[in-house]
Amino acid sequence: MSESLVKIENIRAYYKLKNREVKAVDNVSFEIMENEIIGVVGESGCGKSTLSNVLLNNIIKPLTIVGGRVLFKSNGEYVEISSLTREEVRERFWGKEMSLIPQSAMNALMPTIKLSKYVEHLAQSHGIPKNELLKKARKRFEDVDLDPQWLNRYPFELSGGMRQRAVIAIATLLNPQLLIADEPTSALDVVNQKVFLKILLEMKRQGIVKSIIFVTHDIATIRQIADRMLVMYAGKIMEISPVDKIVEKPLNPYTEGLLNSVLTPEPEIKKRGITTIPGTPPNLIEPPSGCRFHPRCPKAMSVCKEKEPKLVEIEPQRKVACFLYSEERA
Ligand code: SF4
Repeated sequence: MSESLVKIENIRAYYKLKNREVKAVDNVSFEIMENEIIGVVGESGCGKSTLSNVLLNNIIKPLTIVGGRVLFKSNGEYVEISSLTREEVRERFWGKEMSLIPQSAMNALMPTIKLSKYVEHLAQSHGIPKNELLKKARKRFEDVDLDPQWLNRYPFELSGGMRQRAVIAIATLLNPQLLIADEPTSALDVVNQKVFLKILLEMKRQGIVKSIIFVTHDIATIRQIADRMLVMYAGKIMEISPVDKIVEKPLNPYTEGLLNSVLTPEPEIKKRGITTIPGTPPNLIEPPSGCRFHPRCPKAMSVCKEKEPKLVEIEPQRKVACFLYSEERA
C-alpha cells in the first residue's frame, strides 16, 4: 500500500493586507500519496493556486502561513517544510524533490534567455556538472518530441505547445518526486493539450515523477488523468474522492453543481443535464458563516448557516464536508 508523500495538516494561508486578510486557504488537510495523480478543481479564486504555493513553500508576502504544517517525505523521513524558509526549501527541494509547471508556463521563460541557460542554472543550483545535465536535457527533449537543437534557441522562437513541452522537460530533469502542475493546459489548443497530458502520464509511468498534483478548472482533464479529485470552494475542501466515484455520484452539492456545469460532459454527467451554480464565489475577506457555500447551495439547511461542516470520511476513500451526511444536521 502506498504511503503519503506529502501531508498537509490544518493549513491556513492568508493574504495579509492592511487591516484585513484574505482567507485563501483555510484549515485544509489532506495527503498526497506516493504514485498518485490528484486533481484539484474549483472555481477561480477558490484557493487552488495558493495551495500550490503552500506545497512549494513559495510564501511571498502578503501571503502568510498563519497555521498548520506541511510535511514532505524526503529520504524516508517527513520534513516539516512549512517551518523552513522559502530559500531553504528552494535550495534543498525545488527542482530536485518538487517541481512546478506554473500557470503561465508558456510565459515563464524569458524570451531572450536560451533554453540551455535554464538547464545550466539548474545544474549550478544543485552542484551538478553542467555538461552532465545538458546531456540529460538533450535526451529529455527527445522524449517530449523536441529536437535537442532547440536547447540552443530562445523561447520566442518556439510555438506555444513547444515552449510548454520545453518547460516540462526542464522542470522534470532531476526526476522530482512531486510535480505540481498549475493550470498547465489552459492556454493550449486541444491538440497540444492532449500531447501534454500524454507526456505527463508517460513521465509518471516511467517513474520520472512519482506523484502529480494537477490544478485546473477543467473537470474533463481531471477525469482523463487523475486518480483522485479534490474539490475546493472558497478556501475549503468540499470533497475528496476517487475520480470515478465522484463522477458517478458526487456527494457535496457544490461538487454536483460543478460537474453539472461542464460543457462537454462525460456520459455519466450528461444524464444529469447541464446546469449552472447560481451566484458567485464569496469575498474571502469576510466569508459567509457556517458552510461557505450556503448562500448558493440548493440544499442548504438552517444548520449550514450556523456551523461549519467538518471534512469526514463517509465511506472508504470518500471524504465530504456537508451536513447532508452528518448527524449534526438534526
Ligand atoms: Fe449545502 Fe449545507 Fe452541505 Fe454546505 S453543508 S454544501 S450548505 S447542504
